[in-house]
Amino acid sequence: MIHDLELLQVGKTYPDGTVAVSNFDLRVEKGEFVAFLGPSGCGKSTTLRMIAGFEDITDGEILIKGRNVSHTPPEKRPTSMIFQNYALFPHMTVRQNIGFGLDLKKMPKVEKDQKIDRILDMFDLTEFAERKADRLSGGQRQRIALARGLVVEPEILLLDEPLGALDANLRRIIQNELKLLQRELGITFIFVTHAQSEALGLSDRVVVMSNGVVEQISPPKELYRRPATRFVADFIGSNTVIEGRPSSGAADVSGFAQLDTPLGVIRGRGASQPGLAIIPAEAFRITPKNTLGEIHLSGTVTARQLVGSVGHFRVRLSDDREVAIETHSGTPEAQALQPGSLVTLGVDPEAITMIPA
Ligand code: ADP
Repeated sequence: MIHDLELLQVGKTYPDGTVAVSNFDLRVEKGEFVAFLGPSGCGKSTTLRMIAGFEDITDGEILIKGRNVSHTPPEKRPTSMIFQNYALFPHMTVRQNIGFGLDLKKMPKVEKDQKIDRILDMFDLTEFAERKADRLSGGQRQRIALARGLVVEPEILLLDEPLGALDANLRRIIQNELKLLQRELGITFIFVTHAQSEALGLSDRVVVMSNGVVEQISPPKELYRRPATRFVADFIGSNTVIEGRPSSGAADVSGFAQLDTPLGVIRGRGASQPGLAIIPAEAFRITPKNTLGEIHLSGTVTARQLVGSVGHFRVRLSDDREVAIETHSGTPEAQALQPGSLVTLGVDPEAITMIPA
């Protein structure tokens, strides 16, 4: 199968010796929406710019539709890039801004005008066609930037924090539009963001990066359910991470592993020889201390906050660590528990992920 985009062991070392990206492996199918997510400086933009061809790669290969474009100049790649600041020409009209990429391709005027008209219509910008770009709102400028990226009919649209300059309301609106647009056009989108909600809400798969390295590539739900590394467990959602040693007990053949921890033996999903147990905040069942059942941990409630249907608790465990717990606020237990209450925390081993230390 030919992928829209393949990064094979791609790396980037800047001339000053900064290793911005290493061993980046990714295969993207046609029409997929993939987000690069990670803290500032982790190499997201560098990777995007390498895909666009604005930045040379120093290791590996980049293939688009099976063709090696590793050293192809940007204008010869079937990609378009949308920048955070939109990079519009303020004194050009909307029409001229959108037509810019087509001018670079020396497209005949009749064909060019047809394409611009079509895209103006699609983005509801027809009435602004002759207006100067600096006379428009943030949301309109954002649409022009998108229209300009799409009018050249790229195979892959690259978006570098495209919503970063918008206020929260507009951001939500344009997020929705973006997702609809992407479905409608069936174009592959690669989207860079440091905002979790954006990455998790918009994309089919998320590439989580830290320090130039890919930590995990998964659908959003999987990042919550089965974090692959400690970084992902700390970065996504709200997890408790408990360290331990692989339990000396009998090996578990059913896809579960056991960990000896200062808090007792913990069993969870994972390969043999785990070093960390990862428990999502919403996986804990919190009950008064005398309740029978599968008990993993015991502790004392230190804080309670009921927000609508969700109860947020903090519980201090016997090793003094505090864990965050989310539960339904309506249960009798949630109503009864107060700071100072002794509780037990039960977790279904299925919800626990074991990873190497
Ligand atoms: P992100 O997009 O995740 O914020 P970047 O890709 O911009 O991260 O940067 C990754 C690393 O590369 C950072 O350490 C950054 O300082 C460094 N970097 C970015 N551009 C250059 C450059 N032109 N020269 C040297 N180092 C750079």
